[in-house]
Amino acid sequence: MNIECILAPNAGPMTGPGTNSWVVRSGNESVLIDPGPIIESHLDAIRQALHETTVRAVLVTHTHPDHAPAANPLAAEYGVPAIGNRPGPEFRPDRRIADGESVGFGALQAVCVETPGHTPESVSYRIRDALFVGDHIMGGSTVMVEDMGDYLNSLRKLQSIGLEALYPGHGPVIDAPEVVIAEYVAHRLEREDQILSALAGGAGSVGAIVSDIYRDVDPALHPAAAVSVVAHLAKLSRDGLVETAAEPSWDSAVRLR
Ligand SMILES: [Zn+2]
Repeated sequence: MNIECILAPNAGPMTGPGTNSWVVRSGNESVLIDPGPIIESHLDAIRQALHETTVRAVLVTHTHPDHAPAANPLAAEYGVPAIGNRPGPEFRPDRRIADGESVGFGALQAVCVETPGHTPESVSYRIRDALFVGDHIMGGSTVMVEDMGDYLNSLRKLQSIGLEALYPGHGPVIDAPEVVIAEYVAHRLEREDQILSALAGGAGSVGAIVSDIYRDVDPALHPAAAVSVVAHLAKLSRDGLVETAAEPSWDSAVRLR
């Protein structure tokens, strides 16, 4: 197995150094994972990496605009299927893939591991003991989470499956998966505790919780922090621990049950 990263030139606050597009080869066959945004120089770099190999499929981890838009055009160009869990605004899967299903190339299989949380349709792909995780786990920055309950379950799901390395959608390769995943779980549980403590201490709205637990953080970042707090509240509400609106905003009331 040979793994090559092609870094897209889309660095930014949400993408770190840019999107990692991965070409994985086995013998003279390959798969392309997360081809990224449609930027002509990036597509050329991908074509270069695919030059002397037979592409079998284009896989996407999720449908965000920094991961999936180039999938359909490149798949069409190579005459192979674009594969993902669900369609999105800029992605139409030719084949939908679910937990345990696989795509063969050379002597290897890319096996789908459903890892919802960052988005509902987020999946990872396991090839031997390497896991291509998209934005489920990032090298060096905090993951935006839509559903914290799903997200924690997806982290725990990866804890005991014997992985050697994680290949994220942004940032460097992660060589100690179990350590990093345990840190991610601990970080989210610590945040959950802080939210419950803020509520116990009298915070009565999403905004009050954010202002309390992120008081040392630049207020310009508080709206982003609120997204994370809301994802936690959805989980805590399902767990029966808090009461809040179905889709809480900054001023929504929140209280302990
Ligand atoms: Zn994403």
